[in-house]
Amino acid sequence: MNTAFFTHMACAGHDPGPGHPERPDRLKAILRRFEDEAFALLDRREAPEAEIDQILRVHPRSHVDTVLAAVPDHGYVGLDADTVVSPGSREAALRAAGGVCAAVDAVMSGAARNAFCAVRPPGHHAETARAMGFCLFNNVAVGAAHARAVHGIRRVAVIDFDVHHGNGTQDIFWKESDLFYVSTHQSPLYPGTGMAGETGSSNNILNVPLAAHAGSPEFRHAMTEAVLPALSAFGPELLMISAGFDAHRNDPLAALQLTEADFAWATVKLANLAAETCGGRIVSTLEGGYDLKALAESCAAHVKELMVA
Ligand SMILES: [Zn+2]
Repeated sequence: MNTAFFTHMACAGHDPGPGHPERPDRLKAILRRFEDEAFALLDRREAPEAEIDQILRVHPRSHVDTVLAAVPDHGYVGLDADTVVSPGSREAALRAAGGVCAAVDAVMSGAARNAFCAVRPPGHHAETARAMGFCLFNNVAVGAAHARAVHGIRRVAVIDFDVHHGNGTQDIFWKESDLFYVSTHQSPLYPGTGMAGETGSSNNILNVPLAAHAGSPEFRHAMTEAVLPALSAFGPELLMISAGFDAHRNDPLAALQLTEADFAWATVKLANLAAETCGGRIVSTLEGGYDLKALAESCAAHVKELMVA
């Protein structure tokens, strides 16, 4: 079985404005990198628009209405200082969440062994009722809820190695004992959450903060000593990855020192864990990553390992 790759050019139509790091060129750089013949065997698919009902599994209607009503016919509208919508944001946001749901369908049905979603805007900062941190809807949480509602599974884990803490996913998962969220992230850093003491209502949250300038040894230690054992103990039926690549040493928004090799290594470890616990089922989706070359290369390293998992 193969690796499915979900994307849509409409995801490049979300434009948070001049000078914004979460820019359309991020997706274009990734898609250029995936033109390489090393990726010829990817099962390439269009990310469909999510049904509103799929998003309503994790966000109240008031949040969905607020976000979609803010999308302007011209120019830009800020939902907060960092989170800005443009005319293309509606379709991009719906395809980002819909792409993850479609990837869940592909993997849960057995049509694909695993899947990666090259979509934006990202999602892990979007809380139950608040868009923030460049995120409108929490794509990975929408996907996890979709897996449970449609595919008859109960236990879904999200591992988030974006350099920022996924406060939104933590918020949505907090009281859900059958959902597990584990994050490695730089701390202190935006959004300020993700302390080790934040554990969820039933120990279903694990935060592993890393100090600024931590690199490969600290990250790999956190993975082998904390993240992987916790995931294994939880025993997910589906493993989802919030794949942000802004912990790369060249990223302009943070100060961790990871390289492409670290992302490849983590992917192998997670794929091995998925093979042991959930039939290899992994759905990975793009979060951050703001140096275009580091982003494209890290994404490529991640997906290459999914393809041989
Ligand atoms: Zn990030």
